[in-house]
Amino acid sequence: MEEIKLFAPATIANVSCGFDVLGLCLDTVGDEMTIRKTTTKGVTISKIIGQPLPLDPAKNVAGVAALALLKQLDINTGFDIQIIKNIKPGSGIGSSAASAAGAVFGINKLLGTPFSIHELIEFAMEGEKLASGTAHADNVAPALLGGFTLVRSYDPLDIIKINTPKELYATVIHPQIEIKTSDARSVLKQKISLKETVIQLGNLGGLISGLYTEDYDLISRSLHDEIVEPYRSILIPEFDTVREVAKKVGALGTGISGSGPSVFALSKGKEIAKTVGEAMSKVYQNTTIDFDVHVSKINSTGVKII
Ligand code: ADP
Repeated sequence: MEEIKLFAPATIANVSCGFDVLGLCLDTVGDEMTIRKTTTKGVTISKIIGQPLPLDPAKNVAGVAALALLKQLDINTGFDIQIIKNIKPGSGIGSSAASAAGAVFGINKLLGTPFSIHELIEFAMEGEKLASGTAHADNVAPALLGGFTLVRSYDPLDIIKINTPKELYATVIHPQIEIKTSDARSVLKQKISLKETVIQLGNLGGLISGLYTEDYDLISRSLHDEIVEPYRSILIPEFDTVREVAKKVGALGTGISGSGPSVFALSKGKEIAKTVGEAMSKVYQNTTIDFDVHVSKINSTGVKII
């Protein structure tokens, strides 16, 4: 195989009570990547369509993740990457993670699969380090494994794939405002109380249990974030209204996608998820804020060859 074409999916990190540990993979939103073998060693990025991102592999997460993988091998082959960038950077649905995950998945396939998916997660995390300063896994893990994932531990890295209920859909609305990462971080409380911790643990346990038993009521009751959302949501205009209207038309629950500004809702079935998208859209139609809406089944396989 000399060339591979991939769908590199968008992802939702945090997932309400799963702050910094849970993530899920989307199915209808993602980038397209073409990766081909070259005779010169190293990595080139020859084309990016859709967003003004750097072609220099050292400044692009796709290049950094690819180089982290190649560093482990002694080979004379190189790789060229082309990206059709559909996921807007900074939207909160794992734009950088999609590129990092796609790059390592594609190169691994072209090389005859020398690395496991879990090893690929570690290479993709190097790309995330370039984008956000920390090598976090909560977007690259669901992008590579699909479904819901849990980062149980970073030291050692221990990532668990969690069952995805068959009728679960996500609706994501992206109000096009900029939230500075420094602001998204500085609004968080650095100390949380025992009481808040207990509430969060109860909900996280409930959510994981609800995902395995496909108990939609339990999922709904558990989609509550005690420690981040109350503070971070202040940075997202109309957040409370979006949450209220989504619940009113049948969403199981809502939350901030990654560090925002995108807001997600989970629903049982596509029809409710679409209605939720329409209700959320109406909120921003009454403002001057531009927005995109996506309705997606949870993607249980992750990066796909197309
Ligand atoms: P979000 O998850 O909020 O959408 P990201 O984690 O995707 O945001 O971070 C986007 C940052 O990563 C931007 O500063 C962007 O310039 C940088 N970046 C570098 N390479 C890429 C790439 N291939 N795709 C997306 N963002 C990239």
